[in-house]
Amino acid sequence: MSLERAFTEAQFEENESFEERRERLHKKIEESIADEAEHLRLEKKLWELDKQNLLRQIKELQEQVTTDKLTQTKNRRGFEEEIGRILKTSEGKIMEKRHVKNKLSFLLLDIDNFKKINDTHGHAAGDEALKRVAEVLKGHAREGDIVSRLGGDEFVVVFSGAEEEDIMEKFFNKDEKKAEIGMDVDVRGRTIKITTSGGLTSYEPGEEIDDTIARADKALYASKKAGRNQITKYSEALEQKES
Ligand code: GH3
Ligand code: MG
Repeated sequence: MSLERAFTEAQFEENESFEERRERLHKKIEESIADEAEHLRLEKKLWELDKQNLLRQIKELQEQVTTDKLTQTKNRRGFEEEIGRILKTSEGKIMEKRHVKNKLSFLLLDIDNFKKINDTHGHAAGDEALKRVAEVLKGHAREGDIVSRLGGDEFVVVFSGAEEEDIMEKFFNKDEKKAEIGMDVDVRGRTIKITTSGGLTSYEPGEEIDDTIARADKALYASKKAGRNQITKYSEALEQKES
């Protein structure tokens, strides 16, 4: 009730004493204020709901634009955001202590002969393979690690707090005597074997992420050249081989 209405409704009645009139008007005004307060409380609640909805929608949208729809891993944009976040919180520590806890190992992976998988088994089978690779990589990642599909059949995994040796060990195949990541993919009742080639390097404090990726890419290229289905650690020697 508005104050104006309170006054109108509090029309003085005949034979009413001044005290009674004042009392009645007082009551009306109090009711009007209580009404207004309730109205404001509801408006505030609605506004808060709107705000929460909006924040939730923004979060969902943010999730969408940073996620690769097919593999549900981070896309390139998501990868850049995540790595930015990690570096912001840990770079100082890496610089100061070079503590293993903050070490970042980058594993760049590319599916071997993926075109052939698409050509032989169809694009849907290729998509299944991509999903399977993502699943396997996510299975190897711990909290704080990043799994991202950078594009096409290329993935990157950033292992937080892990030395290159830890990663080589993790993927070491004792029978083949090499580190490798391969897997079976079920496609319409059939099993396809897929392999990947990888390049491994560590983030050097202060450098651009593109430079880290470029080193991992050189090591990946060496894996492809050496016959695929293996992970190569980056070393200076690879630079000399190339030139
Ligand atoms: P290499 O061992 O040298 O890597 O050979 P490759 O055949 O895997 O060559 P490359 O990595 O260049 O092939 C990438 C292929 O990935 C080409 C493209 O048709 C296919 N591709 C890219 N995105 C998708 C996708 O979303 N789904 C499917 N099914 N295929 C894709
Ligand atoms: Mg490939």
